[in-house]
Amino acid sequence: LTSSSSIGLPPGAARDLVDLLRELASAGDSTNASIARKAGVSASYVSQILNGRKFPSPDVAARIANAIEGADRHELAVRGLAEKAAEARRYDRAHRAVEAAARTGADIEATSVAFLLALDTAHLALRQVAAAPAGPGRVEAAVQAVASTSLYTDRERLLVSAEPRLAAAGEAVFLALVDIRTAVKHGAGLDSEAYHRAYHPFAAAVWSLRQAIRAAAGREPLTPAEMRRDEWSDLDRCPTCTEGGFTTIHR
Ligand SMILES: [Zn+2]
Repeated sequence: LTSSSSIGLPPGAARDLVDLLRELASAGDSTNASIARKAGVSASYVSQILNGRKFPSPDVAARIANAIEGADRHELAVRGLAEKAAEARRYDRAHRAVEAAARTGADIEATSVAFLLALDTAHLALRQVAAAPAGPGRVEAAVQAVASTSLYTDRERLLVSAEPRLAAAGEAVFLALVDIRTAVKHGAGLDSEAYHRAYHPFAAAVWSLRQAIRAAAGREPLTPAEMRRDEWSDLDRCPTCTEGGFTTIHR
């Protein structure tokens, strides 16, 4: 009546259901065809159920119990097992979805942090170029300061995998860094107004990116006060800007 191959189901309601149905079916004179006819399903479906490859709804399971010769008094037991099995499958699906979301979240966070570190590395390299005397090699040095990091790779990862707000925050920092590079290429020194006009928006954008990473993970935003500063741009603590009186830099 049923295949003799072992049912590869883990212990639980689904396996108990298959075991009970097989036991009931093998005890009577029923064939898969007669069960199928009485239950109103196909014979191959009955076969798949008895081999543990398909899971019947509680209603279909009850109809199959009724269709098996001499098994109708087991209808309630069969229905109960089918209900438990369905509930276990629903739980498994929900659990897997939660795990997958957690995995994706961890990946995004790792990608975002790698991007932040690459931004930091590129920015420090640009500062070194800006601090050196301007000369013929400066444009190439500024280009290399950014190109020699993993910034472009990390940026792509973030753009294709992050939610829109996080991807936009990442791109804003990237563009702010490109503005610093442009200023340095054009000869801006570390204490120049051009450098600081590009640097402070970058500093603020880095904090916005950190906030977006926190938001994507469902964490509360940080406030400047908690970080013991007046604002995110570093303007308030920049001696060059506070003492230099740069007029084109606004908070
Ligand atoms: Zn400044």
